[in-house]
Amino acid sequence: MELNIYAYKCKRCGQLHYPYKTICKKCGDNDHNEFDIVALPKNGKLLTYTILYNPPSDFEVAALCLGIVELEGGMRITGQLDIKNPKTGMKVAGKVEVVRIDGYNKHLGMVFYQE
Ligand SMILES: [Zn+2]
Repeated sequence: MELNIYAYKCKRCGQLHYPYKTICKKCGDNDHNEFDIVALPKNGKLLTYTILYNPPSDFEVAALCLGIVELEGGMRITGQLDIKNPKTGMKVAGKVEVVRIDGYNKHLGMVFYQE
């Protein structure tokens, strides 16, 4: 089964929020928590990235490449990049995967690949 990260879409104006906000950041007028839960889009454009060469030991990689991606729909998310030569502006495709394991807890996150 394909994993998803869920975002909250304002029923009044359509603005997506992730993580959850109690009041819509766009119309500011959603005081009844009227949000639809929708799967976060997974494809987008790489805005910027950074490489950490000594990530904490609970990350399952030797060097951690983190990027900020503008997803379809305009939302920005930080995710891990599994791309040899990342370039800003490139198109990327995301997958939700286990990115970190601490003890028995598995943390899901978005991992981006070259599209
Ligand atoms: Zn709204």
